[in-house]
Amino acid sequence: MHPTSPAQFEASRSRTIPQPELVRDDVWALAQQMPGGYLPYSLLYVLRDADGAFHVIDPGWDSPQNWSTLCEVLAGLGASVADVRSITSTHLHPDHIGLAQRLRQASGAPLQLHETEAAATGSPFDGPGNADAVELQLDAWGVPEHRRAEILRITAQASGFVPPAADRTLVDGERLDIPGFDLRGMLTPGHTSGHLCLREDGRSLLFTGDHLLPMMYAGLGLGAPSATNPLADYLASLDRVREYPGYEVLPGHGYRFAGVAERATETAEHHRRRSREVAAVLEDAPDSSTWQIASSLTWSAGWPGLVDFLLYSALAQTEMHRDYLAGAAR
Ligand SMILES: [Zn+2]
Repeated sequence: MHPTSPAQFEASRSRTIPQPELVRDDVWALAQQMPGGYLPYSLLYVLRDADGAFHVIDPGWDSPQNWSTLCEVLAGLGASVADVRSITSTHLHPDHIGLAQRLRQASGAPLQLHETEAAATGSPFDGPGNADAVELQLDAWGVPEHRRAEILRITAQASGFVPPAADRTLVDGERLDIPGFDLRGMLTPGHTSGHLCLREDGRSLLFTGDHLLPMMYAGLGLGAPSATNPLADYLASLDRVREYPGYEVLPGHGYRFAGVAERATETAEHHRRRSREVAAVLEDAPDSSTWQIASSLTWSAGWPGLVDFLLYSALAQTEMHRDYLAGAAR
């Protein structure tokens, strides 16, 4: 894998915000700032079609600053938000879809999502949830009494962000209506259950959202609950993007890069390594609880360093690996 944008690569490393840039003829990338400090920015892509109208992929976090950035970039191209004809989000997280509501109100452009993802919009995907349901989950995971309060607190405090409902749904393989582009949706579940990558065959581009990132391994199972195991889905989805080795990857965060197959392999190996770790714990002690397994694994923050949301996330990911192994054994 190697970066194809030195400016984005440098910004990603130094945790600054890169300037908007031209990616290919009629394709631009611009960085939208994110609050919270975990990641500095998401990447929004602007396409100009053969009729001179514009299309936006992953509009970014909803903030006055991000709105101004988008308006300025369009103005620099001699256009305005009124010239936007479609908005497509790879998935329902607020750093990818947040600004879509304002953009569609200002432009009249439809918001498009994969049909599976669209089914999860309109209600809080990470909302306060049901405290009784969380209690039951903590029981099932074997979380000791003195660690339960912090998890109950953070699940109750979850933002309650409500992803805007889609105006139009897409299916796998569907060609988007963008004159001058050969852009198709690819269903790539894992990060969320209806995550969509977009592939542009004329320009050899892959828009990967949070499915494949250059500088980190995105979490899995972070959308609506699915009947299938998110890790099993994800490994299959990595195989899908691996089929386009010559394409440049335009991810949702970080920097553009070449080497999709290599990065897909590294990413799959990262998750398989974790599964092997979980399998080794279960081989020694088959009756281990999810809590006991998680506390035996190596975590980059160290097990004692995992508190609050990180603890909850670590337990959820451990449970996902355990379920994946059980599925593989069946
Ligand atoms: Zn995401």
